[in-house]
Amino acid sequence: YVRPHFVASQWRAYQEVNEQFADAILEAVGDEPAIVLLQDFHLALAAAALRRRRPELAIVLFWHVPWPNPEVFRILPWAREILDGLLACDLVGFHIQHHGMNFIDTVAMELEARVDQERQAILRRGHRTFVRAYPISPDSAEISMASSEPWAIRAAEALRETYDLGDTRVVLGVDRLDYTKGIPERLAAYERFLELNPEAAEETSFIQIGVPSRVDLAEYQSLGAEVEAGVARLNERFGGRRGRIVHLITQNLDFRELIPYYVLADVLAVTSLHDGMNLVAKEYVASRVNRDGVLILSPYTGAARELEHAIQVSPYDVEASAAAIARALAMPESEQAERMRSLREVVAARNIYDWASKMFRDIKRLHLAPGGFSLARRR
Ligand code: UDP
Repeated sequence: YVRPHFVASQWRAYQEVNEQFADAILEAVGDEPAIVLLQDFHLALAAAALRRRRPELAIVLFWHVPWPNPEVFRILPWAREILDGLLACDLVGFHIQHHGMNFIDTVAMELEARVDQERQAILRRGHRTFVRAYPISPDSAEISMASSEPWAIRAAEALRETYDLGDTRVVLGVDRLDYTKGIPERLAAYERFLELNPEAAEETSFIQIGVPSRVDLAEYQSLGAEVEAGVARLNERFGGRRGRIVHLITQNLDFRELIPYYVLADVLAVTSLHDGMNLVAKEYVASRVNRDGVLILSPYTGAARELEHAIQVSPYDVEASAAAIARALAMPESEQAERMRSLREVVAARNIYDWASKMFRDIKRLHLAPGGFSLARRR
């Protein structure tokens, strides 16, 4: 719900970059048959450029962010070009079916195309594009294993020292500093929670990992400043004799640095305003090998479709979000274990390798070029 700016020169740059990617891909492919996997909104035009020169390529694009409804999408001045770029693919993947349906509805509204609801495909100028959902998941087994290893447990304890957490319960947020992640909303919810439960200022701590993202854009800079000001305000209001009860870490942590935070956290709060999937939610679940801990999850994430046993609450509703934090922190161990067991079952059932291989399996099945093609012929 942020009004976008449309800048013609940026659109031209986008077109050029897509052409350059297509050139590089064609160079890599040579004359061989190939499956090309394009990733994300940066490359919406690349398939069309590839298709013009190598019509028989099998092309898949996975769109990692949500697809809006047609009314929202149609304000984009280059809507048709983007759609035609995507329809040059044989298969377009989204995290959830809902985004795929929005995409199909958008095509139906904007272009002359035949929608095959039965097969979830679009026929445009003789070319068929299948639309499918592939919910992404992290490498849950690796995260679970790492989280139970002594180094991770020791590192989590060390974080208590580093941030002077004492034996307080820890609420964690892990996001890029992006306006879609709802970080100011999360701080507002925590603030309201502290207003209603002043004793919690002594008993809880809040750690926000905010990885700098797209820092050359003004919107992102002002978000960074807003989050910093929010953290300062909470510490000022509620820090009391502890001084700092909210900690903001603006670094990109690697896997071994991040796992201890998951191990440490009693509650993980995901309050995205709009999010394709949100892997952080699944990673937290994967890390809770002892089945304790509570996940608060925005219903506006793709993950909310699968993680039904999280506490789901709208980040736009400050009162309900504050109540969710209180409820998470007061949740009996037996309920934590019950919810976490269900969540862990979902997360363990899928991983990043299944996600990729399922797309490749589908493209092999769906790409019905005469004579087919074989990955084995790729050198
Ligand atoms: N992440 C990381 N270092 C950090 C914070 C996050 O490597 O300091 C990773 C995190 O483990 C997750 C990814 O960044 O795999 C974020 O994915 P998510 O789907 O939650 O959000 P996105 O940033 O893609 O919108």
